[in-house]
Amino acid sequence: MAGRGPTAVAEPTLSPAGDAPTTCLPGVGPAVAEKLAARGLSTLQDLWLHLPLRYEDRTQIVAMRALVPGQTAQVEGRVEAVERGFRYRPMLRVAIGDESRATLTLRFFHFNGAQAAQFLPGRRIRCYGEARPGAHGLEMVHPSYRFLAESDDGALRDSLDPVYPAVEGIGPQTLTKIIGEALRRLPPAPSLELLPAALRATLDLPSLREALLVAHRPPPDTDIALFAAGRHPSLQRLALEEMLAHHLSLRRQRIALRAHGATPIKARGELSQRLLGNLPYTLTGAQQRVFKEVVVDMQRPEPMLRLVQGDVGSGKTVVAALAALRAVEAGRQVALMAPTELLAEQHLNNFRTWLEPLGVRIVWLAGKVTGKARAAVLADIASGAAPVVIGTHALMQEGVAFADLALAIVDEQHRFGVHQRLALRDKGRDGRKVPHQLVMTATPIPRTLAMSAYADLDVSVIDEMPPGRTPVTTVAISGDRRGEVVERIRAACAEGRQVYWVCTLIDESEEIEAQSAQSTFDALAAALPQLRLGLLHGRMKPADKQSVMARFKAGELQLLVATTVIEVGVDVPNASLMVIENAERLGLAQLHQLRGRVGRGAQASSCVLMFKAPLSQMARERLDVMRRTTDGFVIAEKDLELRGPGELLGTRQTGLAGFRIADLVRDAHLLPAVHRAAEVLLAEAPDLADRIVARWVGSAARFAGA
Ligand code: ADP
Ligand code: MG
Repeated sequence: MAGRGPTAVAEPTLSPAGDAPTTCLPGVGPAVAEKLAARGLSTLQDLWLHLPLRYEDRTQIVAMRALVPGQTAQVEGRVEAVERGFRYRPMLRVAIGDESRATLTLRFFHFNGAQAAQFLPGRRIRCYGEARPGAHGLEMVHPSYRFLAESDDGALRDSLDPVYPAVEGIGPQTLTKIIGEALRRLPPAPSLELLPAALRATLDLPSLREALLVAHRPPPDTDIALFAAGRHPSLQRLALEEMLAHHLSLRRQRIALRAHGATPIKARGELSQRLLGNLPYTLTGAQQRVFKEVVVDMQRPEPMLRLVQGDVGSGKTVVAALAALRAVEAGRQVALMAPTELLAEQHLNNFRTWLEPLGVRIVWLAGKVTGKARAAVLADIASGAAPVVIGTHALMQEGVAFADLALAIVDEQHRFGVHQRLALRDKGRDGRKVPHQLVMTATPIPRTLAMSAYADLDVSVIDEMPPGRTPVTTVAISGDRRGEVVERIRAACAEGRQVYWVCTLIDESEEIEAQSAQSTFDALAAALPQLRLGLLHGRMKPADKQSVMARFKAGELQLLVATTVIEVGVDVPNASLMVIENAERLGLAQLHQLRGRVGRGAQASSCVLMFKAPLSQMARERLDVMRRTTDGFVIAEKDLELRGPGELLGTRQTGLAGFRIADLVRDAHLLPAVHRAAEVLLAEAPDLADRIVARWVGSAARFAGA
């Protein structure tokens, strides 16, 4: 056990730094340290930040007479009677009574003989548990208990007992002791505190030291309900500093990147003007505004770091193409990276249509491009003969060297991690310069969240849809009524419309998904013999996928049965009906993305969400939201509320998934204070900013110096 070695607990400045290893604590040898480390607890600081899940109040004794059903409390009394019985299963009942002349029954179902034998009438006992109504008054089932010697003065705890999230292989009492030892080594407030006093004063929150001590060992009068709700000032103090650390880490990445500088892209804009002239439409006001912002950014000697957010179908691609043309006109190189091959191919097709008439050559690079073809593409990229390169992750691999990458465009950013984005950036380093970066996402993120998640990027929003779109009508229909849905498809196709049927099987392998799509395809082909059907899934050869897409786009195919591979970016304006099977299994963001494939033309479009009853409450709410609105931002807000930010942003998003204490939804009200604090620290105390990042974000911060 955590023996108190005479040297171990010696003195105040035992360990001024929280980064001392846990092995400096008594009772923590290599074996225990390893178990702690497996839970991410390697240093004293990690232990300080390992907060209790809840608390138990052993600071007072409640008179048995005053106990009310449902109350969790500590009582003290003497054993009055013991009964060991067996009714269906072994059972031990112990009656205890106290000075309030009331009795309470303790009931055990799991016990051994030795344990039962300890309950001797007259023995003094203290129990902690929940009082529940039983056959003969109140009972506690499996309370925690201990016997007290007659001489024991029965001193009560002077703080609430913490109950920590479990660490495998370490008992709760040992863990509590270890954390207690770590807390004894908390440095005095001045050396622990990283927030400047002036800033703290404006926030009206406790010091870090006080916050930690209260969170781990709350004094008896603590409002526990506030803790449970995450609103206790101590928790808020910790959440604020954690959010600040994450925010600062992103901001520093941005500052570091900016410091590299970029070559300004100087162009008269002739090529982009020509593309605009060739388009069958004019840009929306929002597209024009965002394009201007991009142009201004690219003319600067620091790298552009811009995120373009626009709902599905808002027309982000053409803005990217216009930006690309400015770089091409300036004689520089552009890379466009998309997360799936299908999407990258679609960009390739669009860019070919738009750029080739202007005499701009485009090369294609994906994992499947191998051998001689690959060597030729790589050579063109390296020599600068290829001004525009479009592809997948393959663009980021080693061996891909650009002659003069000036602009890196990343589509559907949420599918990539921050690190992948950084990797593409590195492709452009000539000396210290880095390329301008344009990141596009159709996952609308609520404004406040975007400011945290993308603190390293400037955000532009395309908040206007191209004209002539008719909103998509959405209905939710039980899978039992599949026959009606098939009828609807028949009718739609008879009117010359095209239809998507989306098969969803999540958490299954691509293989199983493909099989299921195949059998759905077969069934629909049998039910609709007069229609021309296509099938699209992830296991198909790229060339086959491409040809199916091309035939659907050309109107040759009327009904496309597909897996969620079509989720992102696929654009066929004549498709105006979408059926999503097992819609209850999908999250809001994914449903919204899928539905965005229809409603792109002038016809009235509809989306049928087929579900399998019974629906969970959560699924019902999701489908309801989908029926009520097509506004991506409204959907994102709801998604945030239902699922929390980690999910919304994708687990690969650094930082956000990794909060220990903060909860971006619960603590969203702290964001303005976080942003203000970040400004102050970066301007006045960058060294403190560094230490805050190191404390909370730790290893993730190593990207900051990139
Ligand atoms: P997303 O923002 O989802 O990537 P896309 O760039 O794929 O959207 O554009 C969706 C569709 O809207 C495409 O068919 C595109 O040609 C069309 N489009 C884009 N801008 C306009 C516009 N200003 N007017 C009319 N149609 C437009
Ligand atoms: Mg797109």
